[in-house]
Amino acid sequence: MGIGWNKKTLKEMLGESKALFKETGHYMGLKKLPVKESDPLKYERLFSRIRGTVVGARETALHISASPIVRELGELCFTLYSPEGDSLALSTGIIVHVHTMSEAIKWMIENNYEDEVGLKEGDIFTNNDALIGDAHTSDVQSIIPVFYKDELIAWVGSVTHVMEIGGVDAGGQPVTTTNRFGDGLYFSCEKVGENDKLYRTYQIRADRNLRGSTYWHLDEKARLAGCRIIRDSLKPIIDEFGVDYYKKFIREIIEEGRQVFQARVKERLFPGRYRAAQFYDGSTKGSPVATERMITERLMHAPVELTVTSEGIFKMGMSGASKWGFTPLNSSLPAMQAGLWVTAAQMLAYDGRINDGAYYATETYFPYGSWANPDWPYVSLASTWGPLMVTYNAVYRCMARAFFSRGFREEILCGYGHNNLLQYGGTDQYGKPLGGINFEMCASGMGSRGIMDGLDTGYSMWNPESDMGNMEIWELSFPQVYLGRRITPDSGGFGKYRGGSGFHSTLLMWGSNDIQLAGGGPGRCPNNCGIFGGYPGAPAIRKTVYAHATNMPDIIKNKLPYPSYEGDTRRQNVVDMLKGDVHVDDTSVLVPMPFKPYDVFVMFWNGGPGYGDPLERKLDLIEGDLNNGFTLDFSSKAVYGIEASRDRESGVWTIDKDKSMDLRNKIKEKRAERAVPTRTWMKTERERILRKDIYGPILTMYRDSMTISPDWASEY
Ligand code: MN
Repeated sequence: MGIGWNKKTLKEMLGESKALFKETGHYMGLKKLPVKESDPLKYERLFSRIRGTVVGARETALHISASPIVRELGELCFTLYSPEGDSLALSTGIIVHVHTMSEAIKWMIENNYEDEVGLKEGDIFTNNDALIGDAHTSDVQSIIPVFYKDELIAWVGSVTHVMEIGGVDAGGQPVTTTNRFGDGLYFSCEKVGENDKLYRTYQIRADRNLRGSTYWHLDEKARLAGCRIIRDSLKPIIDEFGVDYYKKFIREIIEEGRQVFQARVKERLFPGRYRAAQFYDGSTKGSPVATERMITERLMHAPVELTVTSEGIFKMGMSGASKWGFTPLNSSLPAMQAGLWVTAAQMLAYDGRINDGAYYATETYFPYGSWANPDWPYVSLASTWGPLMVTYNAVYRCMARAFFSRGFREEILCGYGHNNLLQYGGTDQYGKPLGGINFEMCASGMGSRGIMDGLDTGYSMWNPESDMGNMEIWELSFPQVYLGRRITPDSGGFGKYRGGSGFHSTLLMWGSNDIQLAGGGPGRCPNNCGIFGGYPGAPAIRKTVYAHATNMPDIIKNKLPYPSYEGDTRRQNVVDMLKGDVHVDDTSVLVPMPFKPYDVFVMFWNGGPGYGDPLERKLDLIEGDLNNGFTLDFSSKAVYGIEASRDRESGVWTIDKDKSMDLRNKIKEKRAERAVPTRTWMKTERERILRKDIYGPILTMYRDSMTISPDWASEY
């Protein structure tokens, strides 16, 4: 006798569900939605009650936690699942997790948890194993079963991004780990509590194996409180509507999600095959303490192919993705799928109704053996987001072209700025072990839209409600003082509509003699591309600027000017204004590096890509950019083709219209002189490829791609 419906086991229920979908192409074989059709208002009322419950639980729960990631940034999410583990409603927040916990629940069902582990009301499971169902190791999930009378009626899942996971280096996403064993604590759908109470032994494990466990416990309390709120609210709702109605409803809401997603694809995206390539600089060369296996220069390949059929079938594939590596820059299958759901939730199904119906409406292909679907079970999955984010920039671009071709210009979003990484280790200002991450990274620049500029300093693709958090919160959390935060000029890609700008923070280390900083970003390689002539956001100017043994004590004592922002992109204020050991580094992975009080570190957060030819940008918009510090005079002259002058007294920039028109015409003439037909260019490039006249790490990358994906190789 099982704990499922009508005494079935969960395994039987899941098996039936899979078979019905395979047979009919409809969730649970539902070709029609009789419950919805017979009384649409009742159906909507139940959905809004459930949706309200999961959103409300999140709003309450985030105030229980004190970790700045959860409380300030809202890095948490709640989802309600069917007994088989299909999501029917999710909260706001890190909606990248619409599907990850579904995989985790199904994994528990398929691995006989019902018989071998036991499932009862009050049980608590923790998972952060991305090969089972998660985005990466520092996304920690709490999952609870919900029983109605004697039957398992639902699962509730919750996830937060934690500050510290006990990896080989501090802060949740260790950058020097070369395999799973350096990633930190792994919980593989582990039972960690019963009767709504965590095992004391589990809490001791966290206390003894993390660099500070206060935030861990508080985040967990937030997750569990939200799960409890949802569980306790769900039962009166089921009482009110009747359990038979609820059971029929959850089948229909998922099939409806599938049908609506397909209809939306059909309506919004022009059928065709869309392709885009993106690359990730995963090098650690030049870093002073890189581990042996990572010391090479490495370029990763993230080719994307999106196929939209006239019936509204949406297929995403990554044939040609390069091999996984002994670095944290790998992804699991559930994480890659998670990337697709968060993309779909923002670009196509943004009415709050997205559920696993969307999963059933799409097809994906990630080649086995590539970094996006590794064939080694001990691969590191600590910093999945590096290559994952560049991949979905390519997907955004494919979708932008498909929207454009249908005429939905206002739906176009051509990508986003890569969210770099800054982590802290050592000892904090309170004398305790330090492990944490600065989540102001959530406020990177959004890509431009098809009708307007991108949002400045306010976007991360996994959490559309992102924020940078107050500086004071990051000063409380880490041994540092902010000397300033400012927009980075020209960080948003140039274009008719420009990408959203990124920003940078100038940090003075403070309060501890044992500070380690580590981080990462796309280094020397653009992490996005503009479309229709727009420029990429500017990782090219993204640098790690830092200074050891500075004269900051003298500067403070004598009240002299100090660097509070980057200044001219060609020459940093830190370089000009500080004495000491000053570095400007362009490596993509910054391995943990020691810092002392009065050292200075400038952290850059990227801008988004642009849309359309910069020479078509309206002059008054450029004037506004100049006066607001979004662009600089020398760069806007070169790219936008404008002549501007600055009033000595007021400091206000004014653009000379006639001179600018002349300059724009000259630039166009120069372009025509340099231009070659695409066919000719491709021919030259082909010859270069056949000669293997390619830089070593790039040759290695293509060799891997061709070995793993022969289909891609023959077409290439
Ligand atoms: Mn995360």
